[in-house]
Amino acid sequence: MGTLFEVNEVDRLFYEQKLQPFLPERIIDIHTHVWLEEFVAPSDPALVRAVTWPGRVASSNSIEDLMETYRLMLPGKQVTPLMFSQVSRSTNLELGNRYVSECAAARKLPALMVTKPEQSAAAFEADIERGGFLGCKVYLNYAAPYIPEKEIRIYDFLPPHQLEVLNKRGWMAMLHIPRDGRLKDPVNLAQMLEIEQLYPQLKLIIAHVGRAYCEEDVGDALDILAKTRTMVFDFSANTNANVFRQLIQAVGPKRILFGSDLPIVRMRMKRIYEQGRYINVVPRGLYGDVSGDRNMRETEGPEAEQLSYFLYEQIEAFRLAAEAEGLSRQDIEDVFYGNAAALIGRVKEVAR
Ligand SMILES: [Zn+2]
Repeated sequence: MGTLFEVNEVDRLFYEQKLQPFLPERIIDIHTHVWLEEFVAPSDPALVRAVTWPGRVASSNSIEDLMETYRLMLPGKQVTPLMFSQVSRSTNLELGNRYVSECAAARKLPALMVTKPEQSAAAFEADIERGGFLGCKVYLNYAAPYIPEKEIRIYDFLPPHQLEVLNKRGWMAMLHIPRDGRLKDPVNLAQMLEIEQLYPQLKLIIAHVGRAYCEEDVGDALDILAKTRTMVFDFSANTNANVFRQLIQAVGPKRILFGSDLPIVRMRMKRIYEQGRYINVVPRGLYGDVSGDRNMRETEGPEAEQLSYFLYEQIEAFRLAAEAEGLSRQDIEDVFYGNAAALIGRVKEVAR
């Protein structure tokens, strides 16, 4: 077996000098995708309602690959993933969920079930329970196909009848919010606040800081969200230190969780921002033809040779934000471990 991906001198130095001393010994990664290639059918481009670049980094991520990724990227750290299947219209979710459930049981790891909005309350509850899941991971791709992507609202793929079950059971929901306005979108914000109010026992995780990858995506959202009490935010696949600083100021370090979004953060890249849009700058040719993807750009020569992993860029951005906001050692341990451990513990407590 060859190595999963290359670890070079640039990567080793980045880790040893910046990340290794910053990261606690124990880490919980609250956002990971695990699936096998055979679960995914070749996708119909007409049905793809999300960006295309993630598919170029990894076509599968077995549990063995995930654990090997931690060994290669975060050597010396004890990482516990919370896992769920790949999410796409072309993924066979029955197989994906079964695989995640089996991996979770075999390795005693926490996991979420990827669910669809059309599932009845009874089926939703029974399936989560039977699979030993702690809740659900939902995705805008599973909203009814007649709804134009720009019009999808949270309730279209995390409907009230399922929220009621999650609330009753004290379960968790991992939510990637929809809409072009991202975090600042008023429809998103209204529904996020309503969910927190109506379903107080639900453990709601807003993925990727609500997709606020650029400062332009924040607007006044964090002023509004500062008044919330229980929803938490993961900063997976986000490298924006200024957004992280605003998040820390708004909700404090107890409601921020580390998540990676592996395997996409294996990507070798650096993220830049232009007119409110993020662009992943990658080594020329490494991820095939990216000319049709407006979130991708290629570089070469010395600039390309300095590029390291998306995961490292993400953690480094958080390190800079933590330093600027004066987070303590304890705060940093909470973000990378304690907050997630407590959240998972509270789900299990209700289930008992
Ligand atoms: Zn994800």
